[in-house]
Amino acid sequence: MLREAHRMTALRFECQAGCTNCCTQKGFVYLTEADLARMAAFLKMRPADFERRYVYRTKTLLRLRMPRHTQCHFLREDGCSIHPAKPTQCRIFPFWPELVDDKREWRKTAAYCPGIGKGKLVQIESARQLAGEMREAYPGMYSR
Ligand code: SF4
Ligand code: SF4
Repeated sequence: MLREAHRMTALRFECQAGCTNCCTQKGFVYLTEADLARMAAFLKMRPADFERRYVYRTKTLLRLRMPRHTQCHFLREDGCSIHPAKPTQCRIFPFWPELVDDKREWRKTAAYCPGIGKGKLVQIESARQLAGEMREAYPGMYSR
């Protein structure tokens, strides 16, 4: 639910070169079927092989398996090794619905995302459009 008192009109954000902080936070990386197909193609793997190796599937969701000593199989020192094909939730971060609609959460996220508060102003409508893409991509995770 939106907290009206904390709504924002514009957000400042620019991803910072060399940073990988959002990839090392606790939590899972969820996938859409299109994410899976795109990532597999990027790695020149058959989707079934990619899934067997990297994906955990339940009746309702797909997520990346988490390796033992790092948060993500694709994270390298210099960043995401599948950047052009990365999952929707990674591409849209930090414009996730739960952050865009709540100033307090947005500010909390700034504690680990140095891009927040930097760069150009992003109008709230554009931020919400991205958040909407996130809702559409993962309908099970967001109730409207
Ligand atoms: S897929 Fe790439 S961007 Fe997403 S968490 Fe893994 S390394 Fe980070
Ligand atoms: S934490 Fe923020 S600045 Fe760092 S890589 Fe992620 S989005 Fe970019």
